Amino acid sequence: MKRFIFAAALCASSTTVLAAASSWSYGGSEGPEFWGELSEKYELCTTGKNQSPINLDHFIEADLKPLEINYSAAGNEILNNGHTIQVNFQPGSTMSLDGHSYELKQFHFHAPSENQIKGESFPLEVHLVHADKEGNLAVVGIMFKEGAENKALVQAWKQMPEKKNAKEALSQVINAEDMLPTNKAYYRFNGSLTTPPCSEGVTWLLMKDPVTVSKEQIEQFTKVMGTHTNRPVQPLNARPVLQ
Ligand SMILES: [Zn+2]
Repeated sequence: MKRFIFAAALCASSTTVLAAASSWSYGGSEGPEFWGELSEKYELCTTGKNQSPINLDHFIEADLKPLEINYSAAGNEILNNGHTIQVNFQPGSTMSLDGHSYELKQFHFHAPSENQIKGESFPLEVHLVHADKEGNLAVVGIMFKEGAENKALVQAWKQMPEKKNAKEALSQVINAEDMLPTNKAYYRFNGSLTTPPCSEGVTWLLMKDPVTVSKEQIEQFTKVMGTHTNRPVQPLNARPVLQ
């Protein structure tokens, strides 16, 4: 339990954590350019050199191993934390990277996308947040392009809480595997949380192929959030992006 709380604090998407932390937003006087000044705890948002999101542009060829994903139908709760819509997972969905196991804790959305691929922004991006036993985070990002309805989102969208801090049990559990693109080739780079406290040391794995989402599904999310939910892209600095 303790480990889970640690992971939740790091991903900054837990409502309990946010209640105790300084409030922030995607615009105005608490917007991204001021996050670092809102709290001492948010300093890295300004001073960090490995911040996310980024524009992925120049790539280094690397022998990236296929992701070993073993997800199960364990997403059983949906919440609106005021910054995003998040689906929480019970234990049992794992991903192995470099022979190291990470467990899927939650996924949540940003519109428009936070990361960009060769300067291209997408209407929606999902972040699947995983943590290992020590609380180290690995995030799998997937881009959505407008097109056919996304079947994997149907249940969550049906129960999307419109009110901030509202939470409900999903009447049908969700398997995050249904959201993955067929081709699982990915980019890999180091980064941070894209929300305060902008903690670094996050391993980012961004799927090269987007999946589809309907115009109506995008609109439902953006209407409920009432604002864009993307932090602007951050300087790459000395980081390589592997592919
Ligand atoms: Zn995110």
